[in-house]
Amino acid sequence: MSKVAVVGAGTMGNGIAHVFAQHGRDAVLIDVSEAALAGGLATIRKNVERMEKKGVISHQLSVDTVSRIKTSTSLDAAKDAEIVVEAATENPDIKFDIFEELDRLAPTGAILASNTSSISITEIAKQTRRPERVIGMHFMNPVPLMPLVEIVRGRVTGDEVVAKTVEITKQLGKTPVVVNDSPGFVSNRVLMPMINEAIFCVDEGVATPEAVDQVMQLGMNHPLGPLALADLIGLDVCLAIMKVLQDGLDAHKYRPAPLLEKMVANGQLGRKSGRGFYVYRD
Ligand code: NAD
Repeated sequence: MSKVAVVGAGTMGNGIAHVFAQHGRDAVLIDVSEAALAGGLATIRKNVERMEKKGVISHQLSVDTVSRIKTSTSLDAAKDAEIVVEAATENPDIKFDIFEELDRLAPTGAILASNTSSISITEIAKQTRRPERVIGMHFMNPVPLMPLVEIVRGRVTGDEVVAKTVEITKQLGKTPVVVNDSPGFVSNRVLMPMINEAIFCVDEGVATPEAVDQVMQLGMNHPLGPLALADLIGLDVCLAIMKVLQDGLDAHKYRPAPLLEKMVANGQLGRKSGRGFYVYRD
């Protein structure tokens, strides 16, 4: 099967490379940081071993998955890829530079996909001379476990590229759902205002975080309450996405809760900082 390049070896990138390799593709994981590449590979090893222990995959598949993944610190490694999935840091300038370079380096027929959560696919596509071959492939975290890939069609993404990306997604055992490019796509446009509203409830003294989460878990059958989920996503990420919705759609409707702004300013970012709406000791 043809080769895949994944740019960014962090939380999402290593999961994306893992899933491609587990489904038979040779993958190259590219990152500017050697430490991120080493960390990404270590995470993949740990995850396939866990899947093997649980009987989800065979020992042979676990070994093959890891052996199909190479690493590189240079985007040159994307030169023979059929599809490139970019999962680098969520910063427009970083992504624009990567796509400009990928356009120069990757084969002319390659699909250039971005895993961005909130940056416009149409704007990313404009950095290339092949905007019709640029698309959003929005995997969910944790990538090996979550079935959805939100496929984001930019303003000029070609029908053939959408069809090919849908097919590739299905080959990964995932379910593709195609949506149009718009701030927050569907996933974050629906999810983030709910999280933001939950934060308003705490801010206005309507209920404690525990009570808000219990209402949504036990009453609405959500596996995780919105505030526990916000802690998992990262409160800085939640705030950044609310600002994208605010700038792109409606300044008043998507106003971030003042408590969210305050917590991010205080460094209370959720799980990754040890404290958010809950305290984490691991
Ligand atoms: P992360 O911080 O864990 O990893 C980002 C990686 O990109 C880092 O290893 C960094 O060294 C690397 N990087 C930075 N600049 C680079 C460059 N120029 N070339 C190559 N690598 C570079 O971030 P993440 O959480 O994995 O997020 C990656 C992307 O996935 C973002 O666009 C984010 O919005 C999106 N996303 C994240 C989640 C999530 O839950 N974390 C979910 C869906 C989508």
